Amino acid sequence: MMAEKYEIKISGAKDMPPMAASLGKMLVNKTGSWRNIRPLVIPEKCNGCSLCWKFCPDFCINIDGDYPIINYDYCKGCGVCAHECPTEAIVMEEEIK
Ligand code: SF4
Ligand code: SF4
Repeated sequence: MMAEKYEIKISGAKDMPPMAASLGKMLVNKTGSWRNIRPLVIPEKCNGCSLCWKFCPDFCINIDGDYPIINYDYCKGCGVCAHECPTEAIVMEEEIK
């Protein structure tokens, strides 16, 4: 027996499923409260390549001057920045709450 096909029409945010509709709120939700480890930048090791900025899924890294500044209000501690850094200038440390 063939499964029936359904056409899904999405004409705007009101038609989106709840999870997708909530994505926009990531800008206002302070996802830093999810974190149990935090990235720490070691400026002396940073070459300013901006790869951490490029790969951060939460857009919470700014390259301000020569090295990255992390916005801990939004950093959820995923560790992608530390993983991608070519000079090991970012280390992940246990979050002290
Ligand atoms: S730990 Fe994750 S969320 Fe935090 S700055 Fe690094 S890449 Fe971004
Ligand atoms: S990826 Fe590493 S070396 Fe590149 S800017 Fe970020 S901290 Fe500096």
